[in-house]
Amino acid sequence: MSTEDILKEVAEEVSTCTKCDLCKGATHGVPGEGNPHARIMFIGEGPGFQEDRQGRPFVGPAGQFLVELLASINLKRSDVFITNVVKHRPPGNRDPLPAEINACNDYLERQIAAINPQVIVTLGRFSMAKFFGGEKISSIHGRARKIDGRICIAMYHPAAGLHQQSLKDTIRSDFKKIPQIMAEAERQPVAEQGKTEAPKLKEEPPEQLALF
Ligand code: URA
Repeated sequence: MSTEDILKEVAEEVSTCTKCDLCKGATHGVPGEGNPHARIMFIGEGPGFQEDRQGRPFVGPAGQFLVELLASINLKRSDVFITNVVKHRPPGNRDPLPAEINACNDYLERQIAAINPQVIVTLGRFSMAKFFGGEKISSIHGRARKIDGRICIAMYHPAAGLHQQSLKDTIRSDFKKIPQIMAEAERQPVAEQGKTEAPKLKEEPPEQLALF
């Protein structure tokens, strides 16, 4: 199956998904969107009010900030793939529950495997937890780490920057690190997801990348 076909299949399944109760209060599933061959993928938490109405990720105020952040590093929405850990809106924008994140995990895994991005950026604590376990965002934000042969970077959620100017500045400066991280990722092989084990990559991360 082609990447496009897999993403379409996931989107169709999300649109009729009843694996957890989130679908009951939601208007639309929000599978994610963007370039099927993106080198970089952004993973947020879950759809909010606007996303639920439109069936598209990050189209509300946090999305506007995300678009501005992307533009600051010469990227457009159509260059990247944007999705969330849960694909239906939690009622009242509450935090997604572990059972809901687990129910949705297969969709996210299939999207990651199909796109096979060189770099994954987690936006907020729930997507961070998937890749970075129990780490603290205040300690690891903006730093790249190789996980399963892929470079992952944890970032504060753009919505956090809307409420706090100092975090907005932090997010802006973390984003500015992305081009260099992507350039470094370009020089390294990515795991062929689902086909082979992650290749053994350089033991010592390049200094300028600030991998940790
Ligand atoms: N916040 C998220 O985490 N995801 C969205 O799609 C929108 C807002």
